[in-house]
Amino acid sequence: MTSGEGNPRSVHHSDAGHTSGGGQPGEADPQLIAKVALANRILYDQGVVDGFGHVSVRHDRSPAHFLLARNMAPGLVASEDILTFDLDGNALDAGGRRVYLERFIHSEIYRARPDVQAVVHSHSPSVIPFAATRTPLRPIYHMSGFLGAGSAIFEIRDVAGDTDLLIRDPALGRALASALGTHSAILMRGHGSTVVGTSLEQAVYRAIYAETNARLQSQAVALGEVTYLNEVEAAKAAATNDTQIARAWELWQRAVER
Ligand code: MN
Repeated sequence: MTSGEGNPRSVHHSDAGHTSGGGQPGEADPQLIAKVALANRILYDQGVVDGFGHVSVRHDRSPAHFLLARNMAPGLVASEDILTFDLDGNALDAGGRRVYLERFIHSEIYRARPDVQAVVHSHSPSVIPFAATRTPLRPIYHMSGFLGAGSAIFEIRDVAGDTDLLIRDPALGRALASALGTHSAILMRGHGSTVVGTSLEQAVYRAIYAETNARLQSQAVALGEVTYLNEVEAAKAAATNDTQIARAWELWQRAVER
């Protein structure tokens, strides 16, 4: 499956139009394009995304651009499906291909958070009950130390009234990014969640373990009073885990290449 993944593709920037501001970022590293395509398939294989959801990475040659698939199921994404977007959410090279309605989740988080290099948005099921009950995700075990003192929660009704819940314009993206603040994860009431990372691998890791943490936290709450990691424990665990992500990534990659 990887044999065709590393090929540079002529489709990039071959189409006129759709460009707004920020200039041309140049060709992204083909290995990064292949890796974000792989991240899509990993997130599907690991049960974080289904027919919906998306993952992006900041462009390696321009902090004002990012790479995100065209509008399609994440489990089917290949390198040739990866498009380049600017921070207004415009695709530079869509060439008539449909783009995700919710690309503004990515564009506005990259604009607000220079430290963020990758973003995962999903509707992973175990997380949904938390925002619905205004309950933050909290780290129940060391694997989710990245949750720190707890996730952020976004109530779209507070900023936009009654909507279809989707982050379908830049203003909604800005509101979401504002609510995210410095957190690593934000729960979106009635919708899903978004996690960020300082690398693609870290964002994927966090998306997978946010889902697992949610399932375990629900189970623990049903049993009784829960002792969560405190902020110091969470920070220490997160720092350790960040040195170990490559081990999990190798396994996840192997699983989708079987
Ligand atoms: Mn969504």
